[in-house]
Amino acid sequence: MTATSHVQSTTSRPTFEVRNPGTGDLVGTYPIHDESDAAAAVERARTAFDWWSGLGYAERGERLARFAGVLARRMAQLGAIIHDETGKPYSDAVLEPALVLDHLKWAGRNARKVLGRKRARVGLLTVNHAASVEYKPLGVIGVIGPWNYPVFTPLGSIVYALAAGNAVVFKPSEYSPGVGAWLVEMFGEVVPEQPVLQLLTGDASTGEALCRAGADKIAFTGSTETAKKVMAVCAESLTPMVAECGGKDVLIVDADADLDTAVDAALWAGMANAGQSCIATERVYVHRAVYDTFVDKAVARARELRAGIDTEAKIGPITMPKQVAVIRRHLEDAIVRGGRVLTGGVGEIAGQVVQPTVLVDVPEDALAVTEETFGPTLTVAAVADMDEAVERANASRYGLSAAVYAKARGRDLADRLRTGMVSVNAVFNFPQIPSLPFGGVGASGFGRIHGPDGLREFTYAHAVARQRFAPLMALTTFDRTERTDRLVAKTTTMLHGKRYVG
Ligand code: NAD
Repeated sequence: MTATSHVQSTTSRPTFEVRNPGTGDLVGTYPIHDESDAAAAVERARTAFDWWSGLGYAERGERLARFAGVLARRMAQLGAIIHDETGKPYSDAVLEPALVLDHLKWAGRNARKVLGRKRARVGLLTVNHAASVEYKPLGVIGVIGPWNYPVFTPLGSIVYALAAGNAVVFKPSEYSPGVGAWLVEMFGEVVPEQPVLQLLTGDASTGEALCRAGADKIAFTGSTETAKKVMAVCAESLTPMVAECGGKDVLIVDADADLDTAVDAALWAGMANAGQSCIATERVYVHRAVYDTFVDKAVARARELRAGIDTEAKIGPITMPKQVAVIRRHLEDAIVRGGRVLTGGVGEIAGQVVQPTVLVDVPEDALAVTEETFGPTLTVAAVADMDEAVERANASRYGLSAAVYAKARGRDLADRLRTGMVSVNAVFNFPQIPSLPFGGVGASGFGRIHGPDGLREFTYAHAVARQRFAPLMALTTFDRTERTDRLVAKTTTMLHGKRYVG
């Protein structure tokens, strides 16, 4: 561990415990950092930023590639911490860091191309100028992360912010601080010179402290309700933010879709990680011509799956105890409103283990259709045609991602969905493609991580227009002549006056 990477704790500082959601075993105790810790971390980050931004694209790319190397070699170690803190099955825990490696390399390799200085075209009136634009790092980015993908999700912001030349202060979720500490420590091995990536641990109070600590931008990933609170605090100092929030993602199935593949995808996208994915499928709309077959296959497949805390279980426990109450409330509300449970359900919730649940006949205004459930549940509904499927899909206040299963019309249907991301005949594919932006619309948030948009998100556009020689018509002077005014009028009419009304 580098001496400078972590915010040091004092003995009198309050602490919090992290427990394994499956076994209840204590897996760590961490300090709750406060406002003065956050301010000190941001101040240290300023010096680190000067050094890191001065390194240049090539050296930063090299360090990020080395960081990828460390993660790749120590994936098993990291997987064990993820498993302990979140309860997700070990094989899923190891998969997560594997998916982030391409991003590390892509961001490092492409930062210069995306952000570096580029010439901009000039117009006829500014023909005597040379113009250029460059995207400069903002400075210090505060990253507030969730626990559900404690590596992939925060690194989506951290890696792109670092590649753009920023320093980062990272506040991981109070459910996964050990993963955050491990990442910061490993980064310190490849960048030992300065605290370019620092850690703050704690709960909402620490997150709030980071929002008030003078960072140049906050990259928040978490629930929509928390994003509103973060935004309110950021508003006090006009600190900009990226909001990567929750979703209520749909999977729509056309009559000509490969049903076995669509069922397998719906079950995996809905139930993997116990449904605790921002891009988890929670609603399925199926063309009525294939609805009955789809439901039969989905129920059969769901019954083959089992949630548990043992090593054989493909689905782990719910990580946050309070989320079980949300899942229960959504299921009970659906049933009261006429919904039917075909497998799983409230009766099969034991402690923090929720069995895969398939619901049908759930009205569109039920909580299980309108709000993020964040559990291994699917509502499946028949639609008369794909126009209805699109209409129902887009009726949500969320708009994170969606999936389409169709042969002839897959691409067309994707175009009509109001979400930040759509996958066609696949699920969870877009986060694996580093050049694609990741983010949502509506209650799913704003701003983007990943890809060129993700790099620009942590920069500001810096435009420079340089006069190369004296202009033929001097416009920006009190000495402008009547002749110049007449010339301007003539030229602009010639250039822009061809189309007019009347
Ligand atoms: P959460 O909103 O409870 O917490 C997220 C983070 O915010 C945590 O680090 C938490 O300590 C901090 N926080 C809480 N209150 C705060 C406050 N008032 N000020 C500042 N920080 C505060 O979310 P969670 O339970 O950790 O994560 C699950 C949610 O995250 C789900 O809604 C999920 O859909 C969403 N998510 C979104 C994405 C995405 O990319 N869109 C990715 C993963 C998870």
